[in-house]
Amino acid sequence: MSVSSTAEAAFREAYGTGPEGLWAAPGRVNLIGEHTDYNDGFVLPFALPQRTVAAVGPAPDGKWSVCSTLAPEPVTFGVTGPGEVTGWGAYVAGVVWALQDAGYEVPPVRIALDSDVPLGAGVSSSAAMESVVLTALIDLGGLDVPLERRPAIAQRAENVYVGAPTGILDQSASIRCEPGRALFLDCRTYEVEQIPFDLAAEGLAILVINSNAPHQHVDGEYGARRKTCEAAAGILGVTALRDVSVPELPEALERLDDDVMRRRTRHIVTENQRVLDTVTLLRSGRVREIGPLLTASHTSMRDDFEITVAQVDVAVRAALAAGAYGARMTGGGFGGCVLALVDADRAEPTAAAVAAAYEEHGFTAPTSWVAVAGPGATRL
Ligand code: ADP
Ligand code: MG
Repeated sequence: MSVSSTAEAAFREAYGTGPEGLWAAPGRVNLIGEHTDYNDGFVLPFALPQRTVAAVGPAPDGKWSVCSTLAPEPVTFGVTGPGEVTGWGAYVAGVVWALQDAGYEVPPVRIALDSDVPLGAGVSSSAAMESVVLTALIDLGGLDVPLERRPAIAQRAENVYVGAPTGILDQSASIRCEPGRALFLDCRTYEVEQIPFDLAAEGLAILVINSNAPHQHVDGEYGARRKTCEAAAGILGVTALRDVSVPELPEALERLDDDVMRRRTRHIVTENQRVLDTVTLLRSGRVREIGPLLTASHTSMRDDFEITVAQVDVAVRAALAAGAYGARMTGGGFGGCVLALVDADRAEPTAAAVAAAYEEHGFTAPTSWVAVAGPGATRL
């Protein structure tokens, strides 16, 4: 069964009636630009074909209810504030709260969710869930929320209600991506440019490899990276590390006396430039040439930002050895997915090469698929 028919069936099962409509929002991979979002920098995600579907209908009791194929017993809540709904339901209660807090009249609804976005794999199942719920509430309530304002509302749900200090990347991707395009986003101004990203036309593919590495210390390490970046910006007297350019980097590094802080800063500054360089190449159709930028991004995450783990390093090495033009970890780090730019007919052998390397290292087997840029959040 498709994800949408499962969501619809879950709605009937939980609430004894059919939904008024179905909405979908995708997971994402970030082509390049890691940890740059909270440094006011640049990112370049595209939407995965995997998505979370919400079957949604009005709630006669004036409250909000949500269930999921992963948690069939509905969670029901009235008007709440951060912390009052906990567990997975907090992502949904957070969206209702964030919309209300932004001044909108949010219609009470019943929701059933199903998803084929892998959870906790660094492709943002949390943003997919927030984005699909947000979009359904906006549509059903007839709320006038411009597209460019929506990601920040979903992000507030995750930051303030759920309590995860994530940047604007994930929700922007899930809400604003378009099929066949990568989303070039300026995380300071929220300006976007839809960059042509039709790999099949070039005989290329992006292979996504889920490392299936257990996520460990993710929140603490993420928070620590954020703090260090903010402290470095403070010492350098800039609003955010985005304000330091590559030519200015040597002098900036001289003014930081902590080696860890220097390396974190170098990652952010060079990573922002790699996003800009990738966009320039894609705009002029030189897709293969982005490969070395992807690989340089990985090296920078591994050595300077120190957010990779053995499983993702092995996947990158094996993909490159199998002939990939470039490969890098994608997402916040400490596990998650790797992406590799390959000739389309090399996707399968590359996935097999990574699987063989995993077996040699005694790692849990990876899961791989070819990702084609799909649509952002929408009513089905
Ligand atoms: P990621 O966003 O990388 O997948 P997170 O830890 O940010 O990882 O979010 C995963 C969490 O989001 C899950 O543990 C669960 O609480 C919630 N979640 C995501 N999708 C669903 C879903 N379809 N049903 C229920 N909960 C979900
Ligand atoms: Mg998440």
